[in-house]
Amino acid sequence: MTALPYVDGNMLDGPLGEVFAVDLSSATARCANCGTPGPVAGLRVYSHAPGLVGRCPTCVEVMLRLVRAPDRAWLDLRGATFLQFPMPPDRPR
Ligand SMILES: [Zn+2]
Repeated sequence: MTALPYVDGNMLDGPLGEVFAVDLSSATARCANCGTPGPVAGLRVYSHAPGLVGRCPTCVEVMLRLVRAPDRAWLDLRGATFLQFPMPPDRPR
């Protein structure tokens, strides 16, 4: 049995949790290459690159990159046409 070179997108919870105030574990992203929407938790995450690389499980194109330095982070989402996540209901003003 050969080990996969990636892990699933659940491992992004901690690193992306540092960047976003919302919980992305139940977020949906759509691939800019093939148009397939799916859960962020379903991405193939390669952690052996400089930073984390999340690839589409359908076409394997890069959907996101996250590089973390001690005092800053770079988030590249150009491979995703959108990121949709649940929010608490908007309160009447
Ligand atoms: Zn794709």
